[in-house]
Amino acid sequence: MTSTNIASQPNCSDIYETGLLSVKQASKQILAALPCLHDFETINIEQAKGRTLHQAITAPRNVPSHNNSAVDGYALNADDIPNQGIAILSIIGIAYAGTPFLKTVSSGQCVRIMTGAVIPEGVNTIIMQEQVELRDNIITIDNQHAAGQNCRQAGEDIQQGETILPVGKFLTPADIGMMASIGLSEVKVKRKLKVAIASTGNEVIGLGEFCSENNIYDSNRYCLYAALDRPDIEIINLGILEDDPDALLNSFNQASHYVDIIISTGGVSVGDADHTKTALKQSGQVDFWKIAIKPGRPLAFGKIGRSVFFGLPGNPVAVMVTFYQFVLPALEHMLGIKNKVIFPNIQAKTTENIRKKPGRTEIVRAILEQNSKGGWEVTSTGKQGSGILRSMSLANAFIILEHERASVKAGEMVAVQPFAGLF
Ligand code: AMP
Ligand code: MG
Repeated sequence: MTSTNIASQPNCSDIYETGLLSVKQASKQILAALPCLHDFETINIEQAKGRTLHQAITAPRNVPSHNNSAVDGYALNADDIPNQGIAILSIIGIAYAGTPFLKTVSSGQCVRIMTGAVIPEGVNTIIMQEQVELRDNIITIDNQHAAGQNCRQAGEDIQQGETILPVGKFLTPADIGMMASIGLSEVKVKRKLKVAIASTGNEVIGLGEFCSENNIYDSNRYCLYAALDRPDIEIINLGILEDDPDALLNSFNQASHYVDIIISTGGVSVGDADHTKTALKQSGQVDFWKIAIKPGRPLAFGKIGRSVFFGLPGNPVAVMVTFYQFVLPALEHMLGIKNKVIFPNIQAKTTENIRKKPGRTEIVRAILEQNSKGGWEVTSTGKQGSGILRSMSLANAFIILEHERASVKAGEMVAVQPFAGLF
């Protein structure tokens, strides 16, 4: 791979300002200001994937409830395994999963047993059927077996009285299965978070409308809709709002009566038509930040009535980057999600030089892949302008160049946030 310079083609935003908020400071301030959801709803476990537990789940029973066989074979007492040579045992019955063998098994005897069948009285060891010689009602075994083998113990998965899932668990398919295994059909989860989305800008038009050379189609609201389309969120679509302070404030105020969060895009810069700012300054509870991040520098954050407000930048890539860096962690914090297991950030070798000055976090959209030796390598998706949505579409990961980091040379290790589990 040849080395090229990417990411930081110089532009006016390369003139660093003082007094920018670092990504860490902004994240900290956002999380500290957020309310948490206290309301819950009771739902069937079939609907619970991707929801967050409101209550800890305690097991009312052992799983499995009885000692049972892990294989198809023959159940016997370990005392009947010969020290040397072979032993011969007579088969006195069959134990099926669901239909136990109810008599006691004595020395010199065994029971034909199927996977999952309760282990009968008097036996403690199971030999796989492939390891015995069967003739009429008699089996011959050798001396190569361990006492207790192939038995699953009652409670070896879940013990009665044990807390199996804590409050705040983000429910996965395995969690749903565990709840079913203890007989639970309904569960209390946090209610859905109500999130309103709006686009702003007089140039922005909806799909199906005529797009003149002065217009652009609204892509931000569709990106956000897709990013928010998950089981624990109810999306309220406020549409495209005019660049007019009164109209904006009116829409946001109305929404604030029934949503937890309002997310708008556009209008938070310093242009003459950036009316989100004017409107929200009137409301008094919104801060306008310049964050030391590229892309995504301007961001508004605060409250409108009882709703949390995020005013994201207008450029589509800046929207997505700020959404995943600031908004998604905020949503998950409000939902009380404590332990979502996602693919961790990793270190990978960059295949290219990346130009950067210390003093801001830069987020490069990239393709993460394994080389022929199994090592992780990362390559940018090309042009990285904040309006180039293709740079996101082609990517499977963000390269995160930390605040203090300077230019990176091809072959150096960089922090990478894979998209796996994020979308
Ligand atoms: P603004 O911050 O409002 O000045 O917007 C910055 C840039 O993002 C401008 O070029 C806008 O045309 C563009 N933009 C704003 N909103 C949208 C949208 N909903 N979809 C696509 N591009 C947008
Ligand atoms: Mg605008």
